Amino acid sequence: MNSRRDFLQKLGLSALALQLAPLSGWAAGADNVEPHYDGPLLRVAILGLGGYGTMVAEAMQKCTKAKLVGVVSGTPSKVKAWQSKYGIPEKNCYNYENFDNIKNNPDIDAVYVITPNGLHHDFVIRTAAAGKHAICEKPMAVNAQEGQAMVDACKKANVKLLVGYRMHFEPKTLEVIRMRQSGEFGKIRFFQGQCGFTIGDPTQWRLNKKLAGGGSMMDIGIYAINGARYMTGEDPVWVTAQETKTDTVKFKEGVDETIQFQFGFPSGAVASCLSTYNMNNLDRFFLDGEKGFAEMQPSTGYGPIRGRTHLGELNQPITTHQTVQMDEMADIIFKNKQPVVPVNGEEAVKDLKLIDAIYLAVKTGKKVEVSL
Ligand code: NDP
Repeated sequence: MNSRRDFLQKLGLSALALQLAPLSGWAAGADNVEPHYDGPLLRVAILGLGGYGTMVAEAMQKCTKAKLVGVVSGTPSKVKAWQSKYGIPEKNCYNYENFDNIKNNPDIDAVYVITPNGLHHDFVIRTAAAGKHAICEKPMAVNAQEGQAMVDACKKANVKLLVGYRMHFEPKTLEVIRMRQSGEFGKIRFFQGQCGFTIGDPTQWRLNKKLAGGGSMMDIGIYAINGARYMTGEDPVWVTAQETKTDTVKFKEGVDETIQFQFGFPSGAVASCLSTYNMNNLDRFFLDGEKGFAEMQPSTGYGPIRGRTHLGELNQPITTHQTVQMDEMADIIFKNKQPVVPVNGEEAVKDLKLIDAIYLAVKTGKKVEVSL
């Protein structure tokens, strides 16, 4: 079963990677690491050693404030390989059955949950119960109710809950946000977010409603949802949405293939977005204001992110997103640093409320009012 899972993982990641990650670009980069850091080190165990977990582990090798020290996995062969590759001691290795014993391990500060979406909720609740900080991949949960329960559990356990919103630390993205905040685009009128790729193997978990929670919206559409909020600086007050399905065998009931959706914001600005598992070359943000614009393509892939504004090319440094994210998360956890755009559980619940509203709008055909 494990070898089948490995095989599926490879297929799943390769589809995503093809769309999102020219590897040369991902590997390149000046990651703003602090060479002489002597503050506390965030000691992290990765839970779920799949495609993205592997990428995070590699990127963490360059961190100065965070370190991979443990693993939680259902696949013993991967645990062995990671132990020898990253020097992980036996006492920091867990499986999904004995994972709760991590509460007795003083050498691990945080657990980074990188499993299929449908499993995030339970693993984060167990992480909180063990008294460890939780870092969780997007989408944080499969609906807002589950997401809120995770926020509540972490609050009760007095641990932080952070979500892998790596774009919130990406330099070109941050520059566009800075320009918008300082009024350089004038009043924002419109955002367009197009996110998608053609998904491969029909048997992978991303096309399984129970494990994925939905379809493209959960996996890639969430970038347009989250991007609409950080690019405009507003939270939507209404949602409309329309679904198109061309392949009902691959995209079963509850697994969306393509959804177009629109947001309305309190200022009167609007957004028009597309989420799909059936089109390539879609990784584009466009922000339009009275005085200028920003256009990013690729806008959310692993990099390099490219973009321009009405003033010219964006030329901020290319970073390894996950390296910067984990160093920043160390500061958020230990120093209570407030990032420009939050990466906490409450931020993720807002996106989940919008996903719930999009699915409701698709089902009813009606405009759905939202209050975040
Ligand atoms: P993979 O399928 O490659 O890996 C998931 C891992 O979860 C598996 O390798 C396995 O690890 C573990 N797992 C536990 N239970 C199951 C199960 N029932 N079925 C399958 N795997 C299981 O997925 P990805 O790494 O691509 O995605 C994982 C998460 O990361 C998702 O939530 C996804 O949305 C997110 N992601 C985020 C990205 C970003 O840029 N922020 C990019 C890509 C993914 P083990 O064998 O160790 O038990």
